Amino acid sequence: MDYKKIGFKAGLEIHQQLDTNKLFCNCQSKLTEDADYSFERVLRPTQSEMGDVDRAALEEARKKRRFLYTASNESTCLVEADEEPPHSANEGAIDICLTMAILLGAKPVDEIHFMRKIVIDGSNTGGFQRTALLDL
Ligand SMILES: [Zn+2]
Repeated sequence: MDYKKIGFKAGLEIHQQLDTNKLFCNCQSKLTEDADYSFERVLRPTQSEMGDVDRAALEEARKKRRFLYTASNESTCLVEADEEPPHSANEGAIDICLTMAILLGAKPVDEIHFMRKIVIDGSNTGGFQRTALLDL
């Protein structure tokens, strides 16, 4: 099959905890079982940057689930609890990602723009993940 002819593009999404601080705050990126406090959330679907609301998120919201999160004072702050806006992205983490991209033969983008990926399954406190496209 001629993939160029049909316009096929494939992406690679890598999830890896880096030995840097967290991406949007200065907390250490260390997993811990220590819990100094907890908080509860009901997550709601929100519009994407395109103005759409994801159908899967709407279905998940119908369950009206409540999520309990525990946090450590040593590795969590208000950013992770979605009580404070994210700080500037960690330059060390971005440098590692761009280095990986170059080593994989990818072509890094000129500018990195973070987007919201709506996820209300309780896997994060804000109801969305921050994600960015780094390479073409
Ligand atoms: Zn933090």
